[in-house]
Amino acid sequence: MKKQTFAMLAGLAILIYTAALIAIAGSVAPRLALVFSPLGKIFWIFIIFFSVYLWVSFILTILFAYTNLPLFLYLPFKTIFYLVPSAMLLGKILGVKRESFEKSYIDISNRINKKRIAKQKPKKVLLLLPHCLQAADCPWKITFDIENCKGCGKCSIAKFVEISHRYNIPTFVATGGTIARRIVKKTRPEMIVAVACERDLFSGIIDVHPMPIIGVLNRRPFGPCYNTEVDVEEIISILDTVIPHPDNDKGRESIHG
Ligand code: SF4
Repeated sequence: MKKQTFAMLAGLAILIYTAALIAIAGSVAPRLALVFSPLGKIFWIFIIFFSVYLWVSFILTILFAYTNLPLFLYLPFKTIFYLVPSAMLLGKILGVKRESFEKSYIDISNRINKKRIAKQKPKKVLLLLPHCLQAADCPWKITFDIENCKGCGKCSIAKFVEISHRYNIPTFVATGGTIARRIVKKTRPEMIVAVACERDLFSGIIDVHPMPIIGVLNRRPFGPCYNTEVDVEEIISILDTVIPHPDNDKGRESIHG
């Protein structure tokens, strides 16, 4: 149920839009027909076409995201993307927790983007990490250069240095959304693998749209923004699907020590 929160709210938003459009057509079309008789019909055709387009985009997005349909098109999701503000507003009205809404959007966006990158493999991949993954008592400054990590193994940053070398991808630690945007602008990737909390991932995905982002949520065993953790294995398996490497299994062993 939680994973489909965005889909349900987007569907509800389309239902409301459709009802509103039909109501508008019902009152405007007869007036247009008085001016020039075919105008009323043309207006109705436009409204029906637009409503059907929204519903078809919605149904295809659900099928592409949650089933193994062999066919894949990005356009339906691109259309549904513009319903994010309406779905968010409806969620607020209906008392849906913001975190739950963001999580469900990240989930559907990840599913769609995984299909996109399987269809067309990106050449430039950026790995973006949050500062809170670094051990809070680590004295080394890794925000400008992750290579400053001394590899003590106290936090996951040491593993990300290895991952960065192994896959030969730029890897940056961002202290916030502004820095993350600056890094994206500077590195100009074709795809981003990002680790963050729900709020930062959600806003990042919206910000860089339509660039594909695969977002991985961090774990917060000590509360937000402090000594957070992430499933490194998940990042490796995402990168493995994008950057094929003959020694992948060997590399995985070395990263996991
Ligand atoms: S692994 Fe690197 S970043 Fe983490 S505590 Fe050790 S030196 Fe600091």
